[in-house]
This record gives sequence, structure tokens and C-alpha cells, in this order.
Amino acid sequence: MLSNPLIFTFSAALLGLCVGSFLNVVIHRLPKMMERQWRAECAELAGQQAPPAARYNLVVPRSACPSCNRQITALENIPLVSYLVLRGKCAGCAAPIGSRYPAVETLTAALSAYVAWHFGFGIAAGGALLFTWTMIALTFIDLDTYYLPDGITLPLLWLGLLLNINGTFAPLSAAVIGAAAGYLSLWAVYWAFRWATGKEGMGYGDFKLLGAIGAWLGWPMLPLTLLLSSLVGAVIGIGLIVFAGRGRSVPIPFGPYLAVAGMIALLHGTALTRAYLGPL
Ligand SMILES: [Zn+2]
Repeated sequence: MLSNPLIFTFSAALLGLCVGSFLNVVIHRLPKMMERQWRAECAELAGQQAPPAARYNLVVPRSACPSCNRQITALENIPLVSYLVLRGKCAGCAAPIGSRYPAVETLTAALSAYVAWHFGFGIAAGGALLFTWTMIALTFIDLDTYYLPDGITLPLLWLGLLLNINGTFAPLSAAVIGAAAGYLSLWAVYWAFRWATGKEGMGYGDFKLLGAIGAWLGWPMLPLTLLLSSLVGAVIGIGLIVFAGRGRSVPIPFGPYLAVAGMIALLHGTALTRAYLGPL
């Protein structure tokens, strides 16, 4: 039944809504979990007794309203539907619920449907869905915190290599070279920029993310990914400075541009590369 393109696309959209709801939790909690871990490690290094902390992970504690602490019931936790039924307000204290939550759910559902439609039922679609969900989580975490957590980028890289053992997205040799070349190319840019200006232009998370994209799509997709991410970055960066009056020195995370470029390369990279290089 899932091999019917319409049914598969629709199922992917529904699944995307639920995954989007989970991604909201990851985006919100993962940076906090990392910070807690660093604090505990620092205390341990300094030989201090870390203060006891309540358990905090992706499952515990249950989600609650930040203004009245009322626990969110299962019925109020249905992706998108609950937000619409509650009209964007907490059922307990009527405090507004951030529009980011339904936006991430809708975005995840829409991209999941598109990916399912594009690839059709099979291993490639499953892999592409995982890649898409990871890009969404990384984009919002980087926007919020300027981090691209190792806990996401490194498993992503390994998964890309494993999937390409059978050449799902690229031949294995192209994937291995892509992982190394992706990391090294931004690493080189970072050190060149640092040597020339004494400033840090990007973070190590960006190298790992491009390495992961290379592992998934193979090295021939790296020039396109870099070109697209710089284009998107330049357009948005100049737009922010001109229209939003953002200072030139305010850092702009690079991860979201890499993620958007990686998505375009995943879906249309072959066609785009052919368009500017001619048939390979
Ligand atoms: Zn409330």
C-alpha cells in the first residue's frame, strides 16, 4: 500500500507532523542538556561536588507551560491540531504558545511530503527523511544557540557512510572522500580567515556538518553545497543588515545555510550540477 505514491506522500506528511513535534523538544532541550553536562564536567574537573540536579532529557520531565507550569496533556500535545484548537494559548493560564512550535511541525510535514514524493517508497526515501529531519533540528538549534551539537553531526556522518555502502545516494568511495573533503575545506577556510583577520569566522560544528553532507551526497556535491550556502548566506546577511538594521559585526550562524544548501543538493543536486557543468 505504501508503494502508492499518493498514500506514501500523505503518510510521510502525517509522520512529519509527529516528528516535527519531537524536533521541537530536541531543539529546545538538547542545548540545555549539553550545558548541564558541561557544568557537571567542569565541576568534576575542578574537584567540586556537582550540585544534585533533577533529571532532564528528551523524555523527562513532561512538557509544561513555561508561565503557569501546568503539565501539557496528551490531548493538548497533538501536533498542529492542538495549537489550532487552543488558538495558540495555554489551556490553563491563556499565555500565548510560541508560533515556532506549529511552524516547525508544518515545515517538517511539508518537507517530509516533498521528500517522499521525490524519492518514492524505498531505502533512499527513508534515508532522505532522516537527513531532512536532522537538517531542521540543526538549523533551529544553530539559530538559537550558535551550536551544531556533536551528538547530531557525528552520527549523521556515520549514517551517511553506512547508507552509501550500497550506494544509496553516492558510491562509497565518493562518500568517504566527501566526508574528509567537506570537513577539510571549511577547516582550511577557517584557518585562512583566522590567519588573515585574527577573527573566528565559523565554528567546528560547521566543518562537521559539511563533512556529514559530503558523507551523504558524495564529494561531487560539495562545490554546489558551498556555492548555494554562500549565496543564501549573502542574500540573507545583506538583507538583515539593510532591512533589519542588523550590525555588521553581529555573528550570523552558518549552519542553517549549509543545511538549506544540503537539502537542495540532496533533492536537486544532480540536475543542478548538470546544468552548470554539462552532462558528466
Ligand atoms: Zn499556562
